[in-house]
This record gives sequence, C-alpha cells and structure tokens, in this order.
Amino acid sequence: MTGATAPFGVYVHVPFCRSRCDYCAFATYTDRDHLMGAYGSACVSELEWAVADEGVPPATSVFFGGGTPSRLPADLLVEILAAVPRTAGAEVTVECNPEDARPDRLATYRDGGVTRISLGVQSTVPHVLAGLGRRHGEREAVDAAAAVAEAGFASWNMDLIMGGAGESDADWARSLTGVIGLAEPPPHISAYALTVEPGTPLAAAPDRQPDDDELADRYEQADRILEHAGYRWEEISNWARPGHGCRHNRLYWDQGEYRGIGSAAHSHRAGRRWWNVRTPDRYVRMIGDDRRATAGEEVLTDRQRRFEALALRLRTPVGVPADALPDDGELDGLVTRVDGTAVLTVRGRLLANAVTARLAVGDEGLVPAGTIPPYA
Ligand code: SF4
Repeated sequence: MTGATAPFGVYVHVPFCRSRCDYCAFATYTDRDHLMGAYGSACVSELEWAVADEGVPPATSVFFGGGTPSRLPADLLVEILAAVPRTAGAEVTVECNPEDARPDRLATYRDGGVTRISLGVQSTVPHVLAGLGRRHGEREAVDAAAAVAEAGFASWNMDLIMGGAGESDADWARSLTGVIGLAEPPPHISAYALTVEPGTPLAAAPDRQPDDDELADRYEQADRILEHAGYRWEEISNWARPGHGCRHNRLYWDQGEYRGIGSAAHSHRAGRRWWNVRTPDRYVRMIGDDRRATAGEEVLTDRQRRFEALALRLRTPVGVPADALPDDGELDGLVTRVDGTAVLTVRGRLLANAVTARLAVGDEGLVPAGTIPPYA
C-alpha cells in the first residue's frame, strides 16, 4: 500500500534495562545507562536524516519498545518523540515497566503526545514473578495499572506471560481474572507463551522450562476467559476490546512500511528490509561520526513477500484465502473455512507454525495489500 494516506510506522528501540530477565534475548543492556543522553541525541539525528534524506512520511503510529523505554528520563523520551513527524491523531505507544508507572512520568508522556501505554506486568502471582526474575510484586502491578488507567491515555495494554516456572493453571487463571477484574481493566491484553531462547539462562535450566501441553492448556484458558470478558482475539497473542486494537501492531501484521530508529531497530520500505547495529555503543559512535548505523539489509522476492503476507494474516482473524491451504484431514480442527476464507481455530492458533508450513503462495495477487482492518 502506498500513497499519502498509507499507514506508516516509526519504531524507536530503547536498549536499557535495570536487570536482565532470565528468559530475555532482546538487544538490551543493564550496564549502559551512562549512554542514555547520547543515545537520545543519536536517535534525534537519525530521525532528522530519515526525514531529510529518505522522505520518511508522517507516522500514523509510533512505538517505543525495548528494552525498557520507561527507563529513559521521561523528558528525553518526549524529546525523541518530538522529532518524529506524525499525522494528527497518530497512535504513540510507550512500553512501561510497573516500577516506572508513576503519575508524574505518565503525565509527562501524555502531555508530550503519547496516546497509549503498554504495561509489562507478566503475572500478578508473587512466586511466578519471582520465577520470571521480575522486580515488581502484585501490589506494584495493581498500582501501576491504576495509575495508567487514571492518566487519561486513549488506550493501554497489559502484557502477560504464561508458562513461568512454578506457575500452575490456577496461578494463570488468577493472573487473568485479577487483571480483567480490576476497577479499570486494560482494554488490550497481550498474553505470550514463555519461549526458551538460545543462550539465555532459561535455556540452560531445563527444569524451569514450560511444558508444551501445559502451555496449550493455558492458551485455551486465556482465550476462554478473555472472550468471555468481552475481549476479541486480534492475533495469536493479542486480545482487545472493540476499538482498542493496536494500530502499530496491525501495520506489522499487514506488511506495512516502518522506519526503525536506534540500535538493533529494523526498517521496511518498498520491499527492502534493513537493520541497525546491535549495541548502543556502536550506534552512538556511528551516528556521532555522521555515518549511517545500518548493519545489514535484504530485499525479499515477490514470492517471499506473498508467503509472508499469508503467514502474517493467518495469525489474525482476517485469515487467508481458503485455497492457500490444502483441503486435507491433517488440518481438520485447525482451520475453519467460511466464504472462501480459512481462519485458525483456537487449537489451530496453538499450532500456527505447523499450519503456516502448509501454506501455498499460489499465483500472484492471492492476498491484496491492506487487508488487516484499520484501527477504529
Ligand atoms: S525488562 Fe523486558 S527487555 Fe528488559 S530484560 Fe526483562 S524481558 Fe528483557
């Protein structure tokens, strides 16, 4: 999709964390806080170049992710945001950890143009939080949710993780029902299955890794509880109340164009993908030397792009054209076919990768661009 009204996203990566969660493989650092000021300036420079040299259009959505964006001084985050050209009414999301969700910080965000907070709660059960290596407890999570709800953002999200060490089905249900039972519950919930990433401490501790069958039960439990509470699934790991879908997420699921700013950030424009150097040190140095911080790039073939479009849409209720999947017994119970469209069942969502492997891209034009509904 191209043209002045096409969605366009800006992603800003913030590579700083207080401590490293033992399941995390993101490009983030716990000993680089001294770089924050220089990093913010480098992000502003990269944004200015992107506008001047690449003709980056006004963003319809901006997303500060990480890492822990709320670890940056709030004024510095708002300064970076001010350098992002935006459409009127652009969605601006900041990922925030509970210990940072203080009213003064949230007010600075709101006054600076942030419209949406994504709060990383993960669980409300103390022993599960401890097992995940999270620093906050149940009280902090509940207080943070209340502060975000009261701060007057257009929308907000809460992140949960299922499958932490020592978590029972009852613990998971307690987290979910606790969250949706809050006085002001989050209008959008992301519930991710804990994944074991190579090289993490969790990967070296098999006894603390989640069991696939248990994760499947927890996923079905989440879908049941959330649907019952009025949330609709948006994508495998995301549920939202009507009108609270995340525009930035939808841009990714729709193969939209975006510019990534900061270390390890990825960009996509006109079929070209590129990504920046991984460490904030190198990023700051290169931008300071007036050099682009690009570390690599790829251009997908038409066929790869069509396959990716199908794979992304398959993960959403939009589904894929029914003839993109074989009509055989192996997919029984995993997809439903209605009016020429195949959509994953709840069980199919658990096995989305296996279903994706059966996708056939077929002839050109199988999936039109822009089929994920816009944020309403
Ligand atoms: S806070 Fe998030 S980004 Fe930082 S170490 Fe933990 S999981 Fe990774």
